[in-house]
Amino acid sequence: MYDIQKIREDFPILSRTVYGKPLIYLDNGATTQKPRCVVESITDEYYSVNSNVHRGVHFLSQQATNLHEASRETVRKFINARSTSEIIFTRGTTESINLVASSFTDSQMQEGDEVIVSVMEHHSNIVSWQLQAARKGIKLKVIPMNDQGELLLDEYEKLFSPRTKLVSVAHVSNVLGTINPVKEITAIAHAHQVPVLIDGAQSIPHMKIDVQDIDADFYVFSGHKIYAPTGIGVLYGKENWLDKLPPYQGGGEMIQNVSFEKTTFNELPFKFEAGTPDYIGTTALAKALDYVSAIGMDNIAAHEHELTIYAMQRLKEIPGMRIFGEAKHKGGVISFLVGDIHHFDMGTLLDRLGIAVRTGHHCAEPLMHRLGIEGTVRASLGLYNTKEEIDALVAGIERVRKMFG
Ligand code: PMP
Repeated sequence: MYDIQKIREDFPILSRTVYGKPLIYLDNGATTQKPRCVVESITDEYYSVNSNVHRGVHFLSQQATNLHEASRETVRKFINARSTSEIIFTRGTTESINLVASSFTDSQMQEGDEVIVSVMEHHSNIVSWQLQAARKGIKLKVIPMNDQGELLLDEYEKLFSPRTKLVSVAHVSNVLGTINPVKEITAIAHAHQVPVLIDGAQSIPHMKIDVQDIDADFYVFSGHKIYAPTGIGVLYGKENWLDKLPPYQGGGEMIQNVSFEKTTFNELPFKFEAGTPDYIGTTALAKALDYVSAIGMDNIAAHEHELTIYAMQRLKEIPGMRIFGEAKHKGGVISFLVGDIHHFDMGTLLDRLGIAVRTGHHCAEPLMHRLGIEGTVRASLGLYNTKEEIDALVAGIERVRKMFG
């Protein structure tokens, strides 16, 4: 049984008010709230274990190292990677993509080589490649979509050329909610001997992820989108790929031996983890993964699916409602505009009712161009949201609509 009341009690922030109204938090696509066990793991570790990891002979350092490396194993299990060597801790999705963009381009690409992305990418999966394009003359090719917000796989196939070196696509769109067929996208790329990076920022909190089943070569995500703290994230990479890529940053931890003449690098995963890692963050991330695992990713997916269906149906009853993204496979991210009301006005007025939504281009300006709009209002769901909150959103939108006549 999905005990929503019990789950909500785990998140203290959900019982606060804003402007004297109960908080209705529908901005989970931007970041999620944290359960008590995650926040407590941070204070617990600082109060009782804190010590730098890996190089200490003393008790605390070894205990902190054990926690840190146990967290790597928790992540490995959570996404079903083969080995902990394939789990690199980063600051988040953005840093993970930048790491691959930099190291992959340096070692695997020549001027004129191509990376395929999609029209619905977050800026982090566009600009990271554009920086490399400016540095090394690589090119971006873009998978188009239909008006429902589904990628056109026939067009995707046509983009491959002998110069294609990587495909890099979002698993779930942070604007449209589209769940892209990443297994099929990956199989098509592999048929062309091209590896694939999946941006899992918007999929990791909402569904069971099995990187081996997808057969992704790289899979990246941020802790803060899955009820863990900010500043910690993951790059999963197949060992054979990570072995081929040069280090991203230099510093402590990532070396084997250093002299002024020559430095040799540490083995995986440490080769990509320069400097003191966020070992407090990795423990808290593992706590968050344990937390959602205890509820069950399939149960979370079912709950959010039911809410999404309900929200889509209720929102469509509102006169003047335009929803962007009606893919057959859609997660709990709903972008919309109502009549001529500016997204910023809608968001600001909903805020006064205690309803937190996001407005703007959602770091996906090229997608806004494709849709022919400047921005949307976005409601994005999390595991603790309820039908009553959807009802409050609908009532709030109706109120704003009436205010605008
Ligand atoms: N990709 C997608 C699809 C996202 O939704 C986000 C966060 N909005 C990112 C990448 C970037 O994540 P972060 O800011 O945590 O690095």
